[in-house]
Amino acid sequence: MSWRCIVCGKKITEDHKPDACPLCGVVSDYIVADSEYERPSGALSAAAVADYDRALALEIEATRIYEEATERAKIEGDELTSVFFEALAKNEHGHQVAIKFQKKMRGA
Ligand SMILES: [Zn+2]
Repeated sequence: MSWRCIVCGKKITEDHKPDACPLCGVVSDYIVADSEYERPSGALSAAAVADYDRALALEIEATRIYEEATERAKIEGDELTSVFFEALAKNEHGHQVAIKFQKKMRGA
């Protein structure tokens, strides 16, 4: 069965509704059957656009920091630290996707 995250737009193929979006991490309250999915609507306010832009800049910087930490830990042979920062980088990237999706769907 196909599901859809209404926050980031990720299409999820799983037999059962997931507990959280594998991309942006929101809880299942924001995941619907793909057949019931409706694109977000309603324009964002200027203040909301500014908030999205600030958040996106933060997520981009956080992703860069986590990727650098991942590589440094790999060089140092610290597998747990490498895996930890790699997972954080993936989460931050998911946040970037969600922010860009929301802006695009709402015309910003
Ligand atoms: Zn999502």
